[in-house]
Amino acid sequence: MATLTLRNVRKSFGGFEAIKGIDLDVADREFVVFVGPSGCGKSTLLRMIAGLEEITDGELAIDGKRVNETGPADRGLAMVFQSYALYPHMTVRQNMGFALRMAGVPRAERDRKVAEAARILQLETYLDRRPKELSGGQRQRVAIGRAIVRNPKVFLFDEPLSNLDAALRGQMRVELTKLHEDLNATMVYVTHDQVEAMTLADKIVVLQAGRVEQVGSPLELYHHPANLFVAGFIGSPRMNLLPATVAEANGAGLALELEPGGPRITVPSQGGAAAAGQQVTLGIRPEALRPAADGPLYGEVRLVERLGGLTLLHVALAGGKAVVVQIEGSDPTRAHQPVRLAADGAACHVFDAGGRALPA
Ligand code: ATP
Repeated sequence: MATLTLRNVRKSFGGFEAIKGIDLDVADREFVVFVGPSGCGKSTLLRMIAGLEEITDGELAIDGKRVNETGPADRGLAMVFQSYALYPHMTVRQNMGFALRMAGVPRAERDRKVAEAARILQLETYLDRRPKELSGGQRQRVAIGRAIVRNPKVFLFDEPLSNLDAALRGQMRVELTKLHEDLNATMVYVTHDQVEAMTLADKIVVLQAGRVEQVGSPLELYHHPANLFVAGFIGSPRMNLLPATVAEANGAGLALELEPGGPRITVPSQGGAAAAGQQVTLGIRPEALRPAADGPLYGEVRLVERLGGLTLLHVALAGGKAVVVQIEGSDPTRAHQPVRLAADGAACHVFDAGGRALPA
């Protein structure tokens, strides 16, 4: 068992409050990802859980027991850093077994645990090499191996993949998911990369300026972002966000105008939550837009990105706004062509003037 409970957790550095009161429950064996822009407080929050940073106010409990005053070594956690922090003069075997040796674990048991971790991480053939004889991905696996041998209740990862190239990051994401399944451990993972968050997490915690913006499964955040910040942050390419006015609101839904008297976009089932004349922001994911001869939006294609399986059209709308359209497969549309676009109303999001999503 390993649960984490944060209650009104705060962190101040001098007069600056970096973490502004966070409540969070991490369930046993859950993979929780903290994601947010640079400086939002992700690492600080993780370091407080690890015991590397004092908690200014609030309470942190592991398995229901307060640990605010417990030292990092006694919390039963293991942390994996972005920088790997391997000892250059030691072999992989020595690096992985180091913490156990320091803890006085007998050699035979140490070797057994290192061999088991090496098997899980497919490092068996590298055990006698030194870090400089390994690739970046292999070094990161050794750093993870050092955590595994300690058999921690909770694994903490601080941007562990950010020093790797894109292809290796993709491969390591798959390996981390598998590792989570194999080890059956609670994992807390920090990244600024929302794709990493989406692919790894059972539960994502979106942070901004020291506060939680939303907590939910990847698909909950994708399909039901609570506010404009989450809508813009989760999803790649980003959700298109367009200022609009409610032209009509009734039981059937909302009719929105991007320009007064202009063509309307109908969004079903949000009619009760807004009034005619209200200023809102319309959110349309790129895949919810498509070229259509009778579409209500009109503009010019500025750029076409052909990604093979997908085509992205960058369109300048007549009103001056720009949108991105994502089409499955290849598409014959060319740059500088006029285009009409239709939106899948059921997939649209509407946010009030304060940036909060209108209830569906
Ligand atoms: P990044 O993705 O860039 O690593 P982050 O979300 O992990 O960012 P933190 O490193 O947690 O952000 O920092 C949160 C805020 O706290 C930042 O404004 C940072 O400048 C500030 N901060 C962090 N550590 C300290 C410190 N030791 N002293 C003063 N301010 C700090």
